[in-house]
Amino acid sequence: MEHARRGVMLVLASPSGAGKSSISRALFADDPNIALSVSVTTRARRTDEKDGVHYHFIDVPAFEKMRAEGELLESAEVHGNFYGTPRSRVEERLSNGRDILFDIDYQGTLQLYEKCRADMVTIFILPPSIKELRKRLERRAQDSAGTIDKRLKNARIEMQHYNEYDYVLINEDLEDSTSRVRTILAAARLERSRFLQLDKFVKDLQDQIDSL
Ligand code: 5GP
Repeated sequence: MEHARRGVMLVLASPSGAGKSSISRALFADDPNIALSVSVTTRARRTDEKDGVHYHFIDVPAFEKMRAEGELLESAEVHGNFYGTPRSRVEERLSNGRDILFDIDYQGTLQLYEKCRADMVTIFILPPSIKELRKRLERRAQDSAGTIDKRLKNARIEMQHYNEYDYVLINEDLEDSTSRVRTILAAARLERSRFLQLDKFVKDLQDQIDSL
């Protein structure tokens, strides 16, 4: 039986190229109850990205205004650009029992831990090897050689934070990793703390015993 529950904040973190976006896409394809938290960013849009779908692309003054007005649940500077999570959609989804996936870095994850740890389940994704990571970054070929080097250096820093996450996945095979993420999400949805008005439900059951 389904009991009303609060949504799950599922955080997927990994160095660029470790497979996070492919896993998220596969997850969204067959699970209508989870959607991406669309971040705002000051980074330039890549050719295959759509404004409002992958990110909300905004300029630095607009970003600073949102941050100053408390509209961002967390924010960070990554690879020299600003990123942030708009607050309103997250709150709305969680209270409607809908789950939300965050593709954010460790700085953002730590900020969310401070504010909403009980709503969160976090997964850190590692590449099977650096050879494979570089290959994936080059295959993507949307970034210049200099950018790829910068992303590899950043990967080293990002990896240092694996132990701040609830789960670690080594992404060797997309299908297998996606299935592991689905398992983690399925368990998170069943945690007692997410169920709403469980006290009342149990009290009703007890009352029924009392009135036998
Ligand atoms: P990319 O520019 O490749 O899309 O993302 C670069 C990095 O920024 C990734 O590690 C991604 O997880 C992170 N990122 C994307 N959006 C956000 C956000 O809203 N907040 C934080 N803290 N990091 C983000």
